[in-house]
Amino acid sequence: ASGGPVFKRVLLKLSGEALMGNLSYGIDPQTIDRMAAEIASVHKLGVEIAIVIGGGNIFRGVQGAAQGMERATADYMGMLATVMNALALQQALEKHDVATRVQSAITMREVAEPFIRRRAVRHLEKGRIVIFAAGTGLPFFTTDTAAALRCIEIGAEALLKGTKVDGVYSSDPEKDPGATRYARLSYTEVLAKNLKVMDATAISLARDQKIKIIVFNVRVPGNIERVIRGEPVGTIVEE
Ligand code: UDP
Repeated sequence: ASGGPVFKRVLLKLSGEALMGNLSYGIDPQTIDRMAAEIASVHKLGVEIAIVIGGGNIFRGVQGAAQGMERATADYMGMLATVMNALALQQALEKHDVATRVQSAITMREVAEPFIRRRAVRHLEKGRIVIFAAGTGLPFFTTDTAAALRCIEIGAEALLKGTKVDGVYSSDPEKDPGATRYARLSYTEVLAKNLKVMDATAISLARDQKIKIIVFNVRVPGNIERVIRGEPVGTIVEE
């Protein structure tokens, strides 16, 4: 590989779908193990890593609401789904000999630490990977917004958003053969063009605090490390 890591501390956002592999629901053991192996190897480069995990592979608030639930209730269920993913990821990482802590935005003392910002930072300094569960702890928000928020709170240098596509495209590459991938975008362009990078709350928070976002395909083996080494993978969203 090329140069060393270009970041000292990063916030990695993984959607719940990243754990699904080729399944249509839930967690695929091989996929989560590969993901954990990659994260562990990047961690060995000396990078401090915090992770925000989604829950869409188990439950999404919007879908629950569409079936007649109150949106807030459905959102709380979605947040609980992220806690399940966090525990699974913790276990997978520990199989690769990385010390981890799960911190939940919804207090659940028996399974996770409560979210305490200064404690999270301390864990990172001690070389532990911190997994943030339960999103922001608030309904009507997303785990992308939680990722932007935690990224700022812990002073991470970049928000690495792992997705199932290679970056941000001018239109949906699965429907439009003429779709082109942007190498770089500004926050304002993302908002103005309504590009599906992250929801507007997450993007405007990132814009206010000038967080660099790198959107990349986490399904491609080795991509997390490429991003950490500063290789031109995916799309960068910055000022
Ligand atoms: N959620 C929420 N508040 C948050 C984060 C998540 O209410 O701060 C709920 C919301 O219902 C969402 C679900 O948790 O649909 C799962 O999170 P998300 O859809 O963001 O996960 P991903 O798409 O990244 O897998």
